[in-house]
Amino acid sequence: MALSGLDIYKLLPKTNCKDCGFSTCLAFAMALAQKRTSLDKCPHVTAQAKEALESASQPPIKLITIGSGDNKLEIGNETVMYRHEQKFFHPCGIGFLVEDILSESEIDKRIADINSLKFERVGQVISPDLICVKNTSKDKDRFAGSVKRVMDGTKSNIALYGDDSAAMAGAVSLCRARKPLVICGDSGNLDEFIKLAKTGSLPLAVTCSNIEEAASATAKAKQGGVEEIVINIKAKNLSGKIQDYALMRRTALKKNFRPLGYPTISFTDSVEPDIELAEAISYATKYAGIVIIRNTKKEYVFPLLVTRQDIYNDPQKPVQVEPKIYEIGKVTNQSPVLVTTNFSITYFTVAGEVESSKIPSYIICCDADGMSVLTAWAAEKFTAEKISDTLNNIGIMDMVGHRKVVIPGYVSVLSGKLEEISGWKVNVGPREASGITNYLRGYK
Ligand code: SF4
Repeated sequence: MALSGLDIYKLLPKTNCKDCGFSTCLAFAMALAQKRTSLDKCPHVTAQAKEALESASQPPIKLITIGSGDNKLEIGNETVMYRHEQKFFHPCGIGFLVEDILSESEIDKRIADINSLKFERVGQVISPDLICVKNTSKDKDRFAGSVKRVMDGTKSNIALYGDDSAAMAGAVSLCRARKPLVICGDSGNLDEFIKLAKTGSLPLAVTCSNIEEAASATAKAKQGGVEEIVINIKAKNLSGKIQDYALMRRTALKKNFRPLGYPTISFTDSVEPDIELAEAISYATKYAGIVIIRNTKKEYVFPLLVTRQDIYNDPQKPVQVEPKIYEIGKVTNQSPVLVTTNFSITYFTVAGEVESSKIPSYIICCDADGMSVLTAWAAEKFTAEKISDTLNNIGIMDMVGHRKVVIPGYVSVLSGKLEEISGWKVNVGPREASGITNYLRGYK
């Protein structure tokens, strides 16, 4: 939890010497709490106070990086319990389990399935982030062989899961450059795994049965020189794990309890696809840093990725498309002109329906701060004046030989005024986007 100005003030020299550029120590403390200045501006702060202040300024949940380059996965560094308080910063990683008891061809098939999981939604590409290779066989060579196949078959980030430190060391030596997450499956071998992670500067996941064990395992790993730690709570059911995750997050955020200030990794238990999806979505919602699933079928992975995308969008900034003219199909100067707002979901829904109609059309997205049609109308961001101004200045008049525009049915109330001030003939389209296909097919 961030320190208040008064908390900081208590740690300052209180001499009001002004060397920091502020008239009093209290003014400096207030500015520091609001992150308008930095601690090094006060040359008189004691080493002890400096340590306390620097430690308090660390994020309550540590940022962990798995992999490297553009493809890297960053988790943690969250600051709130609920997204409406601010937003969630680092989307949880979605990964797939690959057990080394599978045959070579089964592993290759799984890799090919995972590589194909890439979708576009509301203008963003969404895809999974990592593959977790598990040493289920307990065979060192088999584990290494599976890791090599995954390395060769995908650019995905990698997590390595095992109990045996010698088998893990062999696997790590194959993929150290990809900065894998090393998951210690047996707390009895934690010391060797700590040494392995420290030597390779790798993130380490500690597996524990409960919160108390987790706190002592992370403290031990930190003491052993591992900076990037992830917590894996095992041996609990879905509700037990979610209760633990919520409690850990609350304790880290509200009490600034460092041993629990690390992201978590969660494995689904069910092999029944619907139940596994429900489990995975529950973990992604509260509060897993990584979710590892088995099922690679698109119809199950897509909803999980969509849920993650929705949860990790900034709730105060709607996903927007650029306000401009969009051409759908081979438009001519006689093609219909539809107008809507620049809320991303609205645009892509309308565009999808226009495509289905096979009637090439122009869609003009008015700048409505990314709000949906009714919300923008209620907030006076999608008014007759705004639409008129857009129609007459966005360049559509040079592209079509007519002056007819279709507005959403929900704002039919704007039609009279819009026609009067814009000089365009206004047609009222359907209320719901689902009616656009039929509407356009009968449009003249
Ligand atoms: S330099 Fe330090 S001691 Fe001097 S006024 Fe600023 S905060 Fe206070």
